[in-house]
Amino acid sequence: MPGKLPRQRENTNTTEQRAYRFEGRPDANQEQKLRQFIGAARFLWNRMLSDWKASYEANGKSDPVKTPAAYKKEPGLEWLKDMDSLCLANVQLRFIRATKEFLTGKKDYPQFKKKHACKDAYTTNLANRESPNLLLDGCLLKLPKIQGPVKLRLHRQIRAGGILKNCTVIHEPNGKWYFSLVFEYPKVEIPKTADEKDASEIQAVGLDMSLSELYVDSDGDTPSYPKPYRKMEEKIAQEQRRLSRMERGSNNYKKQMIRIAKLHAKAKHQRADFLHKLSYALAKQYDLVCIEDLDMAVIKKALSFGKPASDNGWGMFTRMLDYKADWYGCTIIRTNRWFPSSKMCCACGHVHKELKLSDRRYVCPKCGHVMARDHQAAVNILNEGMRLYLEGRPETA
Ligand SMILES: [Zn+2]
Repeated sequence: MPGKLPRQRENTNTTEQRAYRFEGRPDANQEQKLRQFIGAARFLWNRMLSDWKASYEANGKSDPVKTPAAYKKEPGLEWLKDMDSLCLANVQLRFIRATKEFLTGKKDYPQFKKKHACKDAYTTNLANRESPNLLLDGCLLKLPKIQGPVKLRLHRQIRAGGILKNCTVIHEPNGKWYFSLVFEYPKVEIPKTADEKDASEIQAVGLDMSLSELYVDSDGDTPSYPKPYRKMEEKIAQEQRRLSRMERGSNNYKKQMIRIAKLHAKAKHQRADFLHKLSYALAKQYDLVCIEDLDMAVIKKALSFGKPASDNGWGMFTRMLDYKADWYGCTIIRTNRWFPSSKMCCACGHVHKELKLSDRRYVCPKCGHVMARDHQAAVNILNEGMRLYLEGRPETA
C-alpha cells in the first residue's frame, strides 16, 4: 500500500520563529518585580483553574474562562492591575488551551501550579511594533512594567532582521534568571539538498529510537550521552535515595529537595545542549534522515517503569531535527509506525513475527541472516524512508 508521503513540503506560513535563551542579570528591584509577575501568573492560573473546575465538576459544563480584566475588578484582586497585563493575558491563553486539550482528550486534567514544584516562569509579548514594550537593544532587554533594561549575557549571536515577539522569563531553582526570546523572521525557503541529487548520491541515514541511548543508526552506531550527563544522572539517583531516607517535611528534607531540583536543572541543560549539537550535526551531514513516526504516548508507557518520560530526549530531539532540517536543506522522512522495522530481515525481507522484545539479536529463520536487532531496525527504517522519499520526490526537469 503506497503510504501518503509523511512530510510537509507546502508551508504557506510566510514567517518563521527562532528562539534564543540567555542568562540575565536583573538588579534587585527588577528581580523583585520579576518574582511578583511569576507569582501573579501562578496565582491567576490557579484561580482560573479553581473557578473553572468548580462549574465543570458541578454540572459537567466547561464555562468560558474569565478574563484577567474581570479578575482585576474582583474585591481583593486589585493588585493584579500593577502586574504586566501581557503576562496575565498569556496565562489566560494558556489556560484556555489547556482546557481545550483536556476536553478533546489530548491532555490530562489541568493541574494547579505549586510554588517551587512547578517551573517559575512567565511569558510576555510584543504588543505594539511602533512603540515596542518589549525590545532587545544590544545586550539590554526592555520588558513591560520593569524599570530599566535587564542586562543579558549574549553568549551567541542573534540572527539579524528579526522582530522580538515574546519573552519567557525563567527563574531556575539555582537562582539564575533566564530569558527565552522568540524572534520572528520572514521565511526563507532553503532548497532540499536531496531533491537536487541522483538517488545513488543521496547521503541518508536511518535512526531507530532506543530508550537507553536515544537511537541506533543504520551504521550500527549510537550517540553516547556525554560523560558529565551520565555522571549527573547517577548523582541524582544517589541524592534521591538519600531523600527517601529523610523525614518528610523536615528541614533537611526541604533542603535536599532544592538540591535535587538544582541537579535536575543542570542535567536538563546538559541534555538539551547535547541534543542541539547532535541534531545540528545530522541536519548538516545528511540529505535525508529517516525516523519512525512514533507515538509519544507509547514511548511514555514504555518508559513508565523506568525513568520518567521527560528524561527521554526523543521528542525534544526530533523537534530540533525538524526545524534544523529546514534550516540546512535536510529532508526528514517518517516511516509509518506500523512498518515492521524490527521484525523484518533486511537481507531477505522475511517478517519474523515470533521475534520477542527480549531478543537483542535477530536470527532470520528463513535465510539465516544474523544482525543486532536495533541496527537492523535502523537499516530497515533507512530503506523504507528512502523508498517513501523517492516515491514522493518532486519530478526533476
Ligand atoms: Zn532473512
